[in-house]
Amino acid sequence: MTTFADLGLDEAILKALDKMGYKEPSAIQAETIPIIQQKRDLIALAQTGSGKTAACAIPICNRVDATRTEVQALIIVPTRELALQYATEVQKIGHDKKVKAFAIYGGEDATMQQSKLRHGVQVLVATPGRLIDFIYSRQIDLTHVETLVLDEADEMLSMGFAEDLEFIIQCLIHEHQTLLFSATMPPQIRKIALHHMRDPAEISLISKQVPKNIEHHFLYCHHHQREAALVKTIQDTDPKQAIVFCHSRIEVERVCRGLKRDFDGVDYLHAGLTQDVRTIITSKFRSGRVRLLVATDVASRGLDFSGVTHVFIYHLGDDPDIYVHRSGRTGRFDRAGMVVTLVTDRELSTLKQVLHKIQREPIWIGEPPKPREGGHSETEGKPRRGPPRGGPRGGSRGGPRGGPRGGQTSRGPRRGPTSDGQPAS
Ligand code: ADP
Ligand code: MG
Repeated sequence: MTTFADLGLDEAILKALDKMGYKEPSAIQAETIPIIQQKRDLIALAQTGSGKTAACAIPICNRVDATRTEVQALIIVPTRELALQYATEVQKIGHDKKVKAFAIYGGEDATMQQSKLRHGVQVLVATPGRLIDFIYSRQIDLTHVETLVLDEADEMLSMGFAEDLEFIIQCLIHEHQTLLFSATMPPQIRKIALHHMRDPAEISLISKQVPKNIEHHFLYCHHHQREAALVKTIQDTDPKQAIVFCHSRIEVERVCRGLKRDFDGVDYLHAGLTQDVRTIITSKFRSGRVRLLVATDVASRGLDFSGVTHVFIYHLGDDPDIYVHRSGRTGRFDRAGMVVTLVTDRELSTLKQVLHKIQREPIWIGEPPKPREGGHSETEGKPRRGPPRGGPRGGSRGGPRGGPRGGQTSRGPRRGPTSDGQPAS
């Protein structure tokens, strides 16, 4: 078993890790840190909640020269909340070595961010839009960047940031190392990524590690029963803290209004809110003052809320990768977690892809979908008529029963150019 000390890290980093309670490296950390230390390019895939942030942040903090004031590592992330979270992790790991990390992102006063940069930041975390603003206005010097990290790289590329990222990469004309981290990497995105890398090492712990700590439950219902089914499932599973994922901002607000009638501590998050409100809600959720957070996919990538015991997927959508990220907001770092997804007829084909991806038989709360005419149901699995078996705070009453097979034909809006139809400037 590799220890942090085996990785040849600076005493100050080891001390900080110890204070953080990081006793030993996670699998992805043990595999990637030596490669990053060799200054190789790297594509690293590992399940959600497996410690990819520190896998990057530890060797970066270890390498940074804290006596210099230039930006030496640049980390690009898809959302503002993730930028803040990433910078906080780097600050903790680099604390005893006095590494200065800072996040720049849209929606917050740029002048304040500029003055912070002038005081010297060695590790800069940024969303693509704000970084480009700074590059254009010559507020930032990237000539000393030795390491470029693209976290949730596939998300940024599929959000329509390909050109922005290309522009940023072209600004780094000197030799540097590029690191890509994600839990998913569709082949076409991988191809684009490879184009910008030099003989990258590739580490994938995905197939070896389907997270066993997360239970995946499904509830078959008619479109019109979604709201009632959600309320009943929340009552039955009694989550300590949960995120409810919806597919649009309007749906988020509607579902939030509905849940407020039955529960306390409900709030919502989407990219249409001002940045101040987004930050307040995120921090209220982190501190436990919000128990049920209704959100768009702005909350599905990378965010680490360690207290989330349950994820409810109100609308499955049609991309199985999104399921992987949403469900990964619970069960962080091997904690127990439970995901309950509402499934209507139109989502059965996505469900099939999701089950293939997570390599699980579905566990149905209530009636499973009926087999299709002349064949088996695409999603036959273990029906579970009783309550969902103990999630982290398992419920004791029966789950809602599946409703009649719906005749829903209308398709919800597809994902916009970003996870929330809003550039993460
Ligand atoms: P990922 O990016 O893989 O989804 P994160 O980097 O957000 O995961 O980490 C998930 C959680 O695991 C965080 O709460 C983090 O503090 C914790 N963590 C990371 N590395 C370690 C470690 N070596 N020991 C203990 N906890 C860790
Ligand atoms: Mg992450």
